[in-house]
Amino acid sequence: MLRINELKLSLEHLPEALWAAIVQRLKIKADELLGFTIFKRSHDARKKNNLLLIYSVDVELKDEAAVLQRCADDRHLVPTPDMAYHFVAQAPASLAHRPIIVGFGPCGIFAALVLAQMGFRPIVLERGKAVRERTKDTWGLWRKGELNPESNVQFGEGGAGTFSDGKLYSQIKDPKHYGRKVIAEFIKAGAPDEIAWIAKPHIGTFRLVGVVETMRHEIERLGGEVRFQQRVSDVLIEAGHVRGVTLASGETLRSDHVILALGHSARDTFEMLHQRSVFMEAKPFSIGFRIEHPQSLIDRARLGVNAGNKLLGAADYKLVHHAKNGRAVYSFCMCPGGTVVAATSEVGRVVTNGMSQYSRDERNANAGMVVGITPADYPGGVLAGVELQRQLESRAYVLGGESYAAPAQLVGDFMQGVASSGVGGVEPSYKPGVHWTDLAPSLPEYAIAAMREALPEFDKQIKGFAMRDAVLTGVETRTSSPIRITRGDDMQSLNVKGLYPAGEGAGYAGGILSAGVDGIRVAEAVALNMVKLTR
Ligand SMILES: Cc1cc2nc3c(=O)[nH]c(=O)nc-3n(C[C@H](O)[C@H](O)[C@H](O)COP(=O)(O)OP(=O)(O)OC[C@H]3O[C@@H](n4cnc5c(N)ncnc54)[C@H](O)[C@@H]3O)c2cc1C
Repeated sequence: MLRINELKLSLEHLPEALWAAIVQRLKIKADELLGFTIFKRSHDARKKNNLLLIYSVDVELKDEAAVLQRCADDRHLVPTPDMAYHFVAQAPASLAHRPIIVGFGPCGIFAALVLAQMGFRPIVLERGKAVRERTKDTWGLWRKGELNPESNVQFGEGGAGTFSDGKLYSQIKDPKHYGRKVIAEFIKAGAPDEIAWIAKPHIGTFRLVGVVETMRHEIERLGGEVRFQQRVSDVLIEAGHVRGVTLASGETLRSDHVILALGHSARDTFEMLHQRSVFMEAKPFSIGFRIEHPQSLIDRARLGVNAGNKLLGAADYKLVHHAKNGRAVYSFCMCPGGTVVAATSEVGRVVTNGMSQYSRDERNANAGMVVGITPADYPGGVLAGVELQRQLESRAYVLGGESYAAPAQLVGDFMQGVASSGVGGVEPSYKPGVHWTDLAPSLPEYAIAAMREALPEFDKQIKGFAMRDAVLTGVETRTSSPIRITRGDDMQSLNVKGLYPAGEGAGYAGGILSAGVDGIRVAEAVALNMVKLTR
């Protein structure tokens, strides 16, 4: 197989044009091309009046060697690299004990799946409920303002990304192509095939629910076990080695290999680990608001005359501004055609995030508009970032009227420093509702100043971004974990052997795809160690 990169066709091209373009590019006769598959399709939106689709395709030819030789100066023609996933180990016939995975978000799911595929029969402990029951609890907050602190947007089967846009792209280094494994498993479990080849794939929340459920069934079929409503409340550590975990119910499970795939909201578990002296350190994260605009405004700005083209879908954006006070302001987790969601897991706190359906056809676009902060902004120990998040989320709860409504303000009023009193031309999508107010007291002054400076700058890139009626909803605080549970090259905690901190909560991932990839990495480390120890 050979791969052709940078094959450009017009947006409106007919399906058969791709075959013709390959034949022309390789200077071959049509019957010399035996077949092809699309590896990647992206588009270059810079030339809005002549928008091109850019393909990478894998081609099967009658005579690859001859074509390679003839096109030797075409640097975009290369032998197709091997990106297949290869298992690193197979479980020995007799296992002294089974590995434990704490948390069943993307990291825990992929760690469990890969361990199960290698025969290690992992036991997964998840504090929240199975995804269908969890969906009811999550909607309980959105519809009725009733929060279940153990079953919500953050906790339960599928983890934090279940009620999300399901964006599956990441900028992580992935030399072993584990991201392809993640995508392939999602497709096997029911995600649309196109996520394998479109440049910015997403699954959408409804589909994700079915996907994670199917993956759980596969883990169980392979001998794994997934237990819900099982909060790990303690870890057993003896002479610097983990020996098991204790559940909130009092039950103890023994294992010398425990993966911590906790997510960024497991604050009580971070505190417990800190008390047990597991090494961790404060790390930077970001704080800010969600911003909502009409999706049509973003489409026009990004796609020009191609706005509304079905193939391109709802447009997204990525913005950064370096403010004079030294702060970086940037867009975060942009959800085209989606809604702003209530994402708290703690009573008396308000946190925002965003999600979309696969169709991305809601009226508004939303994104976090956040400001980077570092441990220097929250001195006071390893868990001071958690404390700051809690303070800001509690303040937002009060500003929102103490009912899980979120505090909100129109961009025009935010810029002028006056409280908003009602909706303008953009209907906020946050449920259970918003309370119009002045958002300035909700975040530190430096963050407010940086955002006020950034909005007109963003408006230069997306005309209308700073429109008066755009809606700001507060607060976005859980952009990533405020701590890192540091691990060594062996993927184990720096001071507790057998403990494998992983995924977003441990500071090693920042999204669904990267958490899944990290899950695969730790699963491999566990498998190799378990094999070594049984020799
Ligand atoms: C609303 C929303 C939208 C998002 N949208 C996107 C998106 O479109 N694309 C993207 O890439 N990322 C998105 N993210 C971020 C993404 O969801 C996370 O990066 C990802 O889920 C992290 O995976 P994880 O497995 O490391 O942790 P999590 O998904 O947070 O999973 C951790 C799991 O551990 C469980 N747990 C915690 N403590 C314990 C304990 N003591 N005992 C037992 N179980 C425990 C939790 O219940 C949870 O299920 C979104 C997040 C949210 C909240």
